[in-house]
Amino acid sequence: MDGVAIAPSISGQGYYVGRVEGNLYRITDGTYQCAFMTTSEGVVLFDAPATIGHNIQRAVDEVATATGVSNKVTYLIYSHHHADHAGASSLFDRNITRIGHEETRKLLLRDDDPARPAPEETFLDRRTLEIGGERIELAWHGSNHSPDNIFIHLPGHAALMLVDIVNPGSAAVCHSNLANDIPGYIGAADYALTYPWKYFIAGHMNRLGTRHDVATHRRYMADIGDSSRKALDTIDPTLYFAKHADNTWAAIREYLNATTAAAAAPVIEKYSGILEAADLFTASTTFQVVQSMRLDLGYASQVHP
Ligand SMILES: [Zn+2]
Repeated sequence: MDGVAIAPSISGQGYYVGRVEGNLYRITDGTYQCAFMTTSEGVVLFDAPATIGHNIQRAVDEVATATGVSNKVTYLIYSHHHADHAGASSLFDRNITRIGHEETRKLLLRDDDPARPAPEETFLDRRTLEIGGERIELAWHGSNHSPDNIFIHLPGHAALMLVDIVNPGSAAVCHSNLANDIPGYIGAADYALTYPWKYFIAGHMNRLGTRHDVATHRRYMADIGDSSRKALDTIDPTLYFAKHADNTWAAIREYLNATTAAAAAPVIEKYSGILEAADLFTASTTFQVVQSMRLDLGYASQVHP
């Protein structure tokens, strides 16, 4: 059973289960993470990543045997609809109660994947659950990584679960962790720090996150923002259109690539040695931040005279 920022070793079974606080536990396979709470009304599961799969119940069994409580999963709370975090949902009984955001339900009904039954119980902005005397506060603060990604606050356990926003110790991967809304993605870290918590369950990496991890991520994204603004201010698009007068698409591609490269370079240098994968993924995240500045914020958008 681990402390806050210690990366555990994964056993031969391919998973690690550790106590976060009290009756709250987390399971990791080294890359993915989910959590569960043992209560007098059975086990409440938070996400069911496909890669952890059948090891979820094995981990629950391990804890239930060691602590003498029920191993029966009775609730599953979805952080969001994505298959990588929810793809083991159907391994659990049809008659467990699935809870998620209203949009999670809509998207899962749309996607019609038998591995991910839609939640029957939903909410819009906030919902507080009391299960077996444990308090679980769910909140939706707008679209971020996905339109339906929620904040799961466990005030009795000093924990916040927020998936696919911050990768503790690492840079965001693949275009801001594939965020579909960049202002919402950047803002999610701000919301996370408004909650009181000590343990951060990020959905990825093999360790718990800390407030320092979330603050570092926030600074990293802010630095990408500053650097992107600077690049948009200093790189003149007309040069590329003059160079490729006969091919507008080539001009656009070269201009956007040049802007991204100029904006990413100082951030890669600053965060190498601070965030893993900063060298590999800062450019793709920066590309998206530059586009969001132009399109969401209207930065450097010029109206024809
Ligand atoms: Zn996701």
